[in-house]
Amino acid sequence: MPTVFKYDKGIRFYNTTNDVRFIADPTTTKATQDCNAAFITHAHTDHSIAFPNANIKVYSTKIASYLYEKLTSKKVRNTQFVEFNKKIKIENIDVEFLPAGHLIGAAQIMFYFDDLNILYTGDLSTDEMITVPKASIPDEQTDILIIESTYGLEEFVFDSREKIKTSILKWVAESLQKERIPVINIGHLGPAQEIISYLNGMLSVDIYCDLRTSEINKVYENEGIELNWTSFDSLNDSDFKSENGVVLLPRATKELPLFLNKKKTSRAIITGQAIRFLYSSFEQAFPFSMHSNCRELLEFIKKVNPKKVYTLYAYDSKFAEIVEKKLKIQAQKLESFTKPTEIDKKKKTLDEFIEFKK
Ligand SMILES: [Zn+2]
Ligand SMILES: [Zn+2]
Repeated sequence: MPTVFKYDKGIRFYNTTNDVRFIADPTTTKATQDCNAAFITHAHTDHSIAFPNANIKVYSTKIASYLYEKLTSKKVRNTQFVEFNKKIKIENIDVEFLPAGHLIGAAQIMFYFDDLNILYTGDLSTDEMITVPKASIPDEQTDILIIESTYGLEEFVFDSREKIKTSILKWVAESLQKERIPVINIGHLGPAQEIISYLNGMLSVDIYCDLRTSEINKVYENEGIELNWTSFDSLNDSDFKSENGVVLLPRATKELPLFLNKKKTSRAIITGQAIRFLYSSFEQAFPFSMHSNCRELLEFIKKVNPKKVYTLYAYDSKFAEIVEKKLKIQAQKLESFTKPTEIDKKKKTLDEFIEFKK
């Protein structure tokens, strides 16, 4: 019987030859119950919930686990660390983690099942950045590619990251010239470190971050990525030099920190979602993302050259259509094998699972 795979609160792989049940990026603790092993691609919390779960053996990169601990203040348990570009045998299956770009320690995972090589990308960026290299292309043949499609719409035309960074730089400089403190809401794991590193290199500004972002920055520093910043939770009002200070806030933070009370500020947000949404409470919204855009995803698929593509997240169906049209590679969205209400009531047997797949 061939290896089968489906989405159900994570990406599930069943291989009957080796009697193996794997799950990648499970989104609930319960989802790992009937599995031999769980795999975590990266530290973002929509992918990494299995880290503190003692009941399942988890495989991830060491950096992903460090970042998870700083991000959530939870301890990882029962986790086995995997190095990039080195095959390891898990339950008799060769598995290899490959760099995914996106943020440090982020992996794509290749499963070498006896009948199929399946590559799951997790979140992906194919652009060379300051803090992360671009995603790798596997050396060996990929039969099935399961790829994220967060920005997989042709209508989402992003400027190059270089150009967006330049606009950010310009806005920061202009705000400072107008004697307003630039305050930037930004994803505190990944985009924040990339923009800090960029601004460090381009301007002599003092960058201020909240405590959690500071902890994440330290993990980056330990990995050899130089970042200069000050933590504002440990900052006295009098220490803040507003003439060249830039303040970063986590993306969803609404309230300004106390030390900015009665100070003149300019507000901006940096998020890929600015390509879809209007952020009217900000002066500027910069669509900078550490995810690949549609064009980049297509180029990546072309290079990997799989026999079949399965798409996952956001624009999965539409992106699958684009893949078929543009690349002439068979593509479809990765289906769930059962409705959420059914899962809770009754666990599916493998036979039922395969029956559903037909
Ligand atoms: Zn992510
Ligand atoms: Zn994600």
